[in-house]
Amino acid sequence: MTLTPEQQAEIQEARAETRPTLRVTSEGMEKRLYVAHEVLDHGLVRVIDYMGDDNAITQAARVSYGKGTKHVTNDEGLIRYLMRHWHSTPFEMCEVKFHVKLPVFVARQWIRHRTANVNEYSARYSILDREFYIPAPEHLAAQSTVNNQGRGELLQGEEAQRVLDILRDDATRAYDHYEDMLSQDGQKGLARELARMNLPANVYTQWYWKVDLHNLFHFLRLRADTHAQYEIRAYAEVMCDIVRDWVPLAYGAFEDYRMGGVNLSGKGVEALKRRLAGEVVTQENSGMSKGEWREFEGVWG
Ligand SMILES: Cc1cc2nc3c(=O)[nH]c(=O)nc-3n(C[C@H](O)[C@H](O)[C@H](O)COP(=O)(O)OP(=O)(O)OC[C@H]3O[C@@H](n4cnc5c(N)ncnc54)[C@H](O)[C@@H]3O)c2cc1C
Repeated sequence: MTLTPEQQAEIQEARAETRPTLRVTSEGMEKRLYVAHEVLDHGLVRVIDYMGDDNAITQAARVSYGKGTKHVTNDEGLIRYLMRHWHSTPFEMCEVKFHVKLPVFVARQWIRHRTANVNEYSARYSILDREFYIPAPEHLAAQSTVNNQGRGELLQGEEAQRVLDILRDDATRAYDHYEDMLSQDGQKGLARELARMNLPANVYTQWYWKVDLHNLFHFLRLRADTHAQYEIRAYAEVMCDIVRDWVPLAYGAFEDYRMGGVNLSGKGVEALKRRLAGEVVTQENSGMSKGEWREFEGVWG
């Protein structure tokens, strides 16, 4: 990530200005506010604003007048109960607004999460920076032979170098042409809204992304998961750390029930019960498909 000195000064200025408020604040989130967290080679995530804390969740659940109970253990128990039973609306009472800088191909996956508010940097109005995502060698992998949506072995030596050269050369050439089309020796060039169409999907864009905690947890469960592509996972993992600092009790419940928990089908429950009773259960006598059985065994052995 390369913040300009002006951008760094703006962040420092924002953090130096404090305001008295009657609203609840989260100590952990105050430390994060405005700070740019690096992701990938030029990307970032930072919190611009937030509303609520762990207490706001229990307060909404109880529809109480004041701050609610003073006992953290009561709050934790209630938050875990709400999470366990998918009583989700109290979590919607907390909101967060992020500033994210990300490659366009990551943004395409991210934007599929419709339950957020987005405002993206306008490449009709402004000129995009010469910044492209080039994977670090440890992420330059071949197509997986077993998973159509995944990566296999890392590319090595000359092959890795050849791919990196292609990525860099293509991005550089495309950006040179972008600049060239925009302005030709003082003459009026092509409109920005048209010139951008030639840029590759690894060019960086930026947006403000505002979401409530319930839908943020949904996003994180899908995108911090090992099935998600590494590049979006890198963002989700940074956001998990931020949310842990913001609402530690809610994050703890999310980590336990959603990230660490597993869903069992009716057939899965039955197979598990039979196994616990000492019966030898196989895919053939479980009633599960091969895929279901593979996933069942992946969890239960
Ligand atoms: C590992 C992985 C692989 C994927 N692969 C593909 C792929 O190959 N192709 C592809 O197109 N997408 C793919 N996706 C995207 C995926 O199908 C979802 O679009 C994305 O994860 C957003 O999920 P969502 O709709 O639940 O989230 P959100 O849009 O945030 O919605 C949250 C919840 O709100 C409700 N909701 C929101 N909008 C509506 C609506 N209009 N109608 C009814 N209910 C609504 C639903 O309950 C939804 O679960 C993939 C996602 C992941 C994580």
